[in-house]
Amino acid sequence: MIIYQPDAMAGVTSITPPPGKSRRESLVIQGRSWRTISRFADVGPYTFLIQVAVDQTEYRELITGLAWILILSIPLAGLLAAAAGYWMSGRALYPIHQITEATNSIDGPSLSRRLPLLGTNDELDRLSATINRMLSRIATSYERIAQFTADASHELRTPVALIRSNAELLLMEPGSSPGMLRGLADILSESTYMTRLIGDLLTLARSGNEDASIPMELLELNESVRGILDRARAQAMLRNIKLEYLPQDQVVPLLGNQAMVERILMILIDNAVRYTSPGGRIWIETWVTAEHCGFAVHDTGIGIAQSHHEHIFERFFRVDSARTPRDGGSGLGLSIAKSLVEIHKGTIQLESEIGEGARFEIAFARADIVHGVTTEHQLTH
Ligand code: ADP
Repeated sequence: MIIYQPDAMAGVTSITPPPGKSRRESLVIQGRSWRTISRFADVGPYTFLIQVAVDQTEYRELITGLAWILILSIPLAGLLAAAAGYWMSGRALYPIHQITEATNSIDGPSLSRRLPLLGTNDELDRLSATINRMLSRIATSYERIAQFTADASHELRTPVALIRSNAELLLMEPGSSPGMLRGLADILSESTYMTRLIGDLLTLARSGNEDASIPMELLELNESVRGILDRARAQAMLRNIKLEYLPQDQVVPLLGNQAMVERILMILIDNAVRYTSPGGRIWIETWVTAEHCGFAVHDTGIGIAQSHHEHIFERFFRVDSARTPRDGGSGLGLSIAKSLVEIHKGTIQLESEIGEGARFEIAFARADIVHGVTTEHQLTH
C-alpha cells in the first residue's frame, strides 16, 4: 500500500532493494529519465519502502547534446588544426623554398645574380647573405679563369699563326729532302689543329660572360642553313658523303646571332662528316611548331653509345680515341655548340645508338611567339 507518492513520481515503478541496503536504478518511463534510490526502513513493527526519484531528462538531454558536439567537433578541430599547421609551416618554409629556387637557378652564365635580402636580419637573411658572399667569391674566380683562358688563347694565336705560315713557306721551298717535307707537313697539321683549338678555347671563354652584349637579329633558319650549305657540301664531297637539305616550306623566324647559328650548324655538320664513313649520308632539316623552331642534323655514321650521351657536351670529352682517331677534333665542338645554343635560350638534344648514326636536334623559341615580331613583311619572299 502506497502511503505517499508525489504527483511527479506517478509513473515510477517501485523497486525492491536488498534487505538493509540501498538500491540505485536509472529508469526511463514514458520517455523521461529517472534516477531512483530505494531502501527498506523499519519503524517499530512496520517495514516501509522509501523510494526517492529525481527526473534527469533535461540533464540527460544536455549530456547527449554535449556528446554529439564533441563527436562532431573533434574531427573538425583536427582537420582545422592540420590545415592551419600546413599553412603555417608553408609560410615558415616559404623563404627557404625561395632561397633553394634562387640558388638552383644560378649557374655559370648567371653567376652575377644574387639571392634577394629581405632586411629582416634573421637567420634566413643571414644565410642568403652568406650564400651571396660565396657566389661573389666563385664569380671572381670564374671570371679570372675565363679571363686567363681568353688571354692565353689570344696570346698563343700569333706565335701559332707564325709557325703555320713559316711551315707553309718552307714547304713551298724547292729542294727540301723527303724527311724535311714530312716534318714540315707534321708541323703544319699540328699547328692547324692548335689554331682550331685556340679558337675554340677563346669562343668558350667568351661565351660565358658576353650574353648581354651579343647582337641579335631577326633570322630565317632556312636562309641560315642555305648560307653554309656550299661549304658543308664541299666538305662532305671530299669524303664521298651525300649531303641533303630538307627545308621547311614555311618561314622559320628566329631572333638570334647569324654567326653563332652558323657556327652551331657547322660544328654539327663537321662532326657528321667526320664520324660518317665514305658512302654515307647526312641530311639537315629545319622544322617549326606553334612555339618553337629549329634544325636537326642526321647522319648514318658510327653513332654514339647511350652511356656517352650525358658526357658528349662536356669540354674535351671524346669517345674512345680508337673510334675517333686524331682528325683535328679537340672534344670542344659540342660544348661550344651547347653554350651557343644556351645563349639563344635554346636546347640541344641527341638521339643515337652505336652503329646507327646520330641525330642532333636544336630547338629555339620562335621569334614571333617570344618577341612578338611580325615576320610576314620582313621574311616572306
Ligand atoms: P670533337 O672535336 O672531338 O669532334 P665534339 O665535342 O664535337 O669534339 O664531339 C665529342 C665527341 O662526340 C667526338 O669526339 C665523337 O666521339 C662524338 N661525336 C660527335 N658527333 C658525332 C657524330 N655525329 N657521330 C658520332 N660521334 C660523334
